[in-house]
This record gives sequence, structure tokens and C-alpha cells, in this order.
Amino acid sequence: MTAADSYPPSSPQAPVVVAHGGAGADSQHKDGCAAAAEAGLARLRGGADAVQAAVAAVGVLEDDPRFNAGTGSVLRMDGVTIEMDAAVMDSQGRLGAVAGLRRVRHPVEVAAAVADTPHWLLCGEGALRFARHIGAADHDPTTAQALHKHAAMLKDLQQGKRLIPGEDNASFAQYWNFATPLAVAPGQACDTVGAVVRDAAGRFAVAGSTGGCAPALLGRVGDTPIIGAGFYAGPAGAVAVTGIGEHIVRHLLAHTVHGWLAGGMRLPQALQRALTLFDPAIDIGLIAVSATESGARSNRDMPWAAAGDAQLP
Ligand code: ASP
Repeated sequence: MTAADSYPPSSPQAPVVVAHGGAGADSQHKDGCAAAAEAGLARLRGGADAVQAAVAAVGVLEDDPRFNAGTGSVLRMDGVTIEMDAAVMDSQGRLGAVAGLRRVRHPVEVAAAVADTPHWLLCGEGALRFARHIGAADHDPTTAQALHKHAAMLKDLQQGKRLIPGEDNASFAQYWNFATPLAVAPGQACDTVGAVVRDAAGRFAVAGSTGGCAPALLGRVGDTPIIGAGFYAGPAGAVAVTGIGEHIVRHLLAHTVHGWLAGGMRLPQALQRALTLFDPAIDIGLIAVSATESGARSNRDMPWAAAGDAQLP
């Protein structure tokens, strides 16, 4: 089913925030995206810049256990580990990301803090130590829903259901890299949350956060924290991508779409064209904002919402 093909009107330079809850996620969870977009817009109205608004929007989704980011993230194949990825970027060149981060409540805030360091991306143990250094408290993002989802995925694996398009389930057993043994003979959950923002000054920002895809080996990183793949912000706008990261990275999708916008393509056409790059079996979704337009498109159900001022103040 194709979702998300209406485009809210937005005046040039009128502030707007668009938030999504992941390609393949339940579109009935749109209320969570609306709350996130409104939170971002409230920050803009309070004087925050585009990045701060995007981080605020994504933070709301990380706290909503219905979404696969922060609290509610999917479990890795051992049924215990949660590794999260997040990123932020704006059209002024601000850039920060984390990958494989464990036990924090708001990975997107850690990603935003990385932008202040000499680096753009921290991963694993170093990202966790950095998170504690900036005051991010220990937080277990495991939820009952995530445990239930994991059990359902194991059941699918046991029944031989192919969980990743084009991938043999047996490869997870072949390359198993957890300290604990594989509990089943070698189901699928993805989803990511994201937000794109245009502020009153015409600056653009993007933020994203995810628990990744399931099934996944320990240490797997998708597109969400990879610049140009899962996210990009530049002079022509901001783009956030969701779907199966292994496919998204090969198209540098967010940067590719930004390039189309910079070349003058209308935003709805650019998002639609992005979907045509992929086999329909691959979950893909995008949200974007340009100087004059904003919107979303997915080849699956995808909850999303926009909030914005219709007129310039
Ligand atoms: N893109 C994310 C990843 O591959 C998952 C998603 O967006 O559904 O980690």
C-alpha cells in the first residue's frame, strides 16, 4: 500500500516540521508523529534553531514505545542487546551521529552533542562513554512490545519465513557473532523515526534515530547514521530516509534526493522518483522539506505528520 502522498501547503520560509515513524510502521500511530512535529514547531516558536527543533521532534518519538527508536527499539538476535543509531545535520554544516549506542534514553541528543566535538560520528563503546561524559544517564530501552516482537521474529525464523528480501536466513547462523549461541535454527522488523525542519530564516535540518533492523548481527549499522544515505541537509532542503538500510546506502538516497531538489525538481516528484530506484519488496520511505514544499512518500504504510505556520510572521 502506498502511503503519505498529500502535501501540506507551506509558504516560502514559513517554519515547518515534518516527522515520520518509519516505513512499514502502523499508520495509526500518526498521532505520535503529530505530537513530535508540534513539539519541534513549539521549539522553533520559542527561538530554537532548526537542529534543536529536529532533535526535539525526534526525542518525542524516541520516548514513544510504539516506535523503533530509543525506548521501544528492536532487540538484536540474541534477544537481549539493543544497539541504536542516530544523526543530526543542518544546512549550515552542523553534523553529528552515533552508531551502535546502548543504554541511553535519547540517542539523538548524543548525536547532536557529537557535532560539538572534533568528530562527526562515534560508535559502540566510545559513543557510550561519550554519552555518559555529557550526562546521559543509564537507561534500558527494552519494552514488553520489543520482547514480543522478538519472539514473533524467532517464530518466523523457525518456520523458515524469509525475513529480509533476497537474503537467506541461514546466513545469520553462518556469520553469528554473539557471545551466546544461536537459540533457533536460522521475521522482520525495521522502522526508524525522523524529522526534517525549515526554520523562519530558511535554514534546513534533519534528525533521525533507530533501533535498526531485525534480524541483525551484533554491530550491524544501517543507513540512519550515515551522511547522504539516511539523512542529508543542504542549501536545497533536508531529507530523512527510512527502510532497509543495506539497500538505502547503495543509492546514497538522501543526498541523491537533495541533488534532485537542488536541480529544480518538485519535491513530490523527487520523493516518488526515489521509490522507483528500489524493488517493491524493499521497504522505503522518505520525508523532505525544501524552500517551498514539504511532504512524505513511502511504498508501505508510514505514519507521518507535519506542523507549520501557514504564513510568515
Ligand atoms: N533504515 C533503518 C535501518 O536500516 C531501519 C528503518 O528505517 O526502518 O537501520
